[in-house]
Amino acid sequence: MSKGRILIVEDNPVNMELFMDILSAGGYECIHTVDGEEAIGIANREQPDLILLDIQLPGMDGITVGRILRSQENTKNMKIIALTAYAMKGDKEMFLEKGFDGYISKPIKMKDFLGAVEDFLAGKSQQE
Ligand code: MN
Repeated sequence: MSKGRILIVEDNPVNMELFMDILSAGGYECIHTVDGEEAIGIANREQPDLILLDIQLPGMDGITVGRILRSQENTKNMKIIALTAYAMKGDKEMFLEKGFDGYISKPIKMKDFLGAVEDFLAGKSQQE
């Protein structure tokens, strides 16, 4: 039985494969897309338990996708985690302010990634 369904939005194929491998091995069912606009449709239809949302996307960026998800009745309470290559001081506050439940910086640390996802799903707040 799946521990939960996770929507991954990521345009880098190497990252996508890595995230899918780790999460599948961890017992999660993964849905995925490289496209922000498509992610909004998938989130509405599939009602995932968690969304991992890359910020740097070729079309609609992750900040905009997150804002739209927060504005729609069907998706406004979803757990949304930003994936970002820019981990700088103040980022956590910035992402929380923009309506994200947390963020994971890339490149990910393999051993921390699954634990972070599990904590987010359990509703634990982000350490750091
Ligand atoms: Mn990207």
